[in-house]
Amino acid sequence: MTATPVYCLGCGAIFGYSHDIPTPNACVNCPPKRCPDCGEMDHITNLCSCWKSMDNDSPADIKAMFADWGLNVTITKETP
Ligand SMILES: [Zn+2]
Ligand SMILES: [Zn+2]
Repeated sequence: MTATPVYCLGCGAIFGYSHDIPTPNACVNCPPKRCPDCGEMDHITNLCSCWKSMDNDSPADIKAMFADWGLNVTITKETP
């Protein structure tokens, strides 16, 4: 059985192997990027203050969801 690789749009690394994973804009392998909004470095594991300061649930939830996917991908990759 051949799984279809899903590539990260941010760094081009293979994000995971599944047809169920949506193509990510960023992953844990992406280098940190400088946020155009606040000027701080923004990384999926170290979010800039834009996300932390937002009281609205949606953007933070989206980033948290990406972080969860990153963890899941790590586990998936290690599975033969
Ligand atoms: Zn990436
Ligand atoms: Zn920011």
